[in-house]
Amino acid sequence: MKPQSVARAPVSVLLAQLPSVDKLLLSDPATAWVTQYGRDELLRCIRLVLDAIRKKISSNDLDAVPSDQSLHALIDARLVARARPNLRRVINLTGTVLHTNLGRAVMPDEVIAAMASAAAEPCALEYDLGEGKRGDRDELVEELLCELTGAEAATVVNNNAAAVFLLLHALSNRKETIVSRGELIEIGGAFRIPDIMKRAGARLVEVGTTNRTHARDFAEAIGPKTALVMKVHTSNYVVQGFTAEVPENELAKIAHEREVPFVVDLGSGTLVDLTQFGLPKEPTPAEAIADGADLVTFSCDKLLGGPQAGILVGRKDLIQRIKKNPLKRVLRVGKVTLAALESVLRMYRNPATLPERVKVIQLLTRTASSMQAQADGLIPALEEALAGCGLSIAAQAVKSQIGSGSLPVERLPSVALAISAVDRSYEKRVVRLERLLRGSDIAVIGRLSDKTLLLDLRCLTEDKVTVLRDTMLAAAQRLATTK
Ligand SMILES: *Cc1c(COP(=O)(O)O)cnc(C)c1O
Repeated sequence: MKPQSVARAPVSVLLAQLPSVDKLLLSDPATAWVTQYGRDELLRCIRLVLDAIRKKISSNDLDAVPSDQSLHALIDARLVARARPNLRRVINLTGTVLHTNLGRAVMPDEVIAAMASAAAEPCALEYDLGEGKRGDRDELVEELLCELTGAEAATVVNNNAAAVFLLLHALSNRKETIVSRGELIEIGGAFRIPDIMKRAGARLVEVGTTNRTHARDFAEAIGPKTALVMKVHTSNYVVQGFTAEVPENELAKIAHEREVPFVVDLGSGTLVDLTQFGLPKEPTPAEAIADGADLVTFSCDKLLGGPQAGILVGRKDLIQRIKKNPLKRVLRVGKVTLAALESVLRMYRNPATLPERVKVIQLLTRTASSMQAQADGLIPALEEALAGCGLSIAAQAVKSQIGSGSLPVERLPSVALAISAVDRSYEKRVVRLERLLRGSDIAVIGRLSDKTLLLDLRCLTEDKVTVLRDTMLAAAQRLATTK
């Protein structure tokens, strides 16, 4: 038990010394607080602060009532903390370009302008301006999608998981869908192909083995109850070694011989061949359609570089059946998403300009030398402040990931700022710096690796360099002044 301090006043006396809510409401800084946050919010914060202090006094955690000045500071801190957005801005220095937990694709300014306009003004979302009557929201992007993929028809839903779910529900309800055992994937959290199938009412028929599936496995599995043959792009892992899979064109042929549609979940949808920009090969919807796929689904916020949405493209009759399913209405996208999607799809009409215009492609195609130049600019500006905390900073060659399951084994050569302790006694500071940066108004997120904080510069656009520097200087200062 903690011995009671002799000089300490009894709890009831301390509680009685606390200023009243009314007194604090009339205090000097209150006028400015009311102007900035409103009277209700100020009242709430005063109560929260007083309650916290009362609790501390009652549990003997506080020996004296705080001064007016410290009370004001506590109230101010509350007001500021509560006004800070929960969806905080982040500088993504994780080295993963399409980071699902950090919102995946960042969008081009032109696309953002289209979103802002759709949000701010009425727009012809489902209105046929030529005929002056009701239209269909999918038509805003259907022609573009058909043009870019070679498909007959297209529809848009909330994300690719929704696209796969809707496809199965509309076309394979109580019927069988045949999938290779090697493609029964799980993609972060709750998206597992077998679970999605079950929920969609589809009966999963697994064929082949984990590492090898042959044409005959599919041919033998197709029967009177078969609704679909499905291929899932194994986007977040690779099976290496003694493997075999059936090429898409062959699968399409097997399915079509029995009049069964062949569908492909592509995952990340890139609409152009990325090898033209020196990036690794990723299959495109156009290739899948050309190989005979009757339907292809893909995400819009992965390699495509657009908003969160899922696309289905393919045969007109199948798209029509999907659009008639009541779940299409449940899974539909809003106007802001459609505005973004249309805007980003238009950029794909001119592929040569993609590295300048689509931010995701811009980030993926950055050269290590441009990151090295950023490091060379930042290091001298930060060195001294970090040295004051017992930390050193240097440029280090690293490998970034594309992320979101795209091209899982490919790595892009990048440059990181590597911050480490000058000697073992300062090691904890590296961890604390990581936490301070993460807690900043604009959160800086890197990764800790072997007692070094790595800040991968691949996603650091020029307009964020100064913010990063200032945030780091502020964090270093806090690190130096707190024990
Ligand atoms: C990412 C992915 C999904 C899920 O897409 P969301 O747009 O995140 O819903 C489904 N299938 C594959 C193969 C994927 O890579």
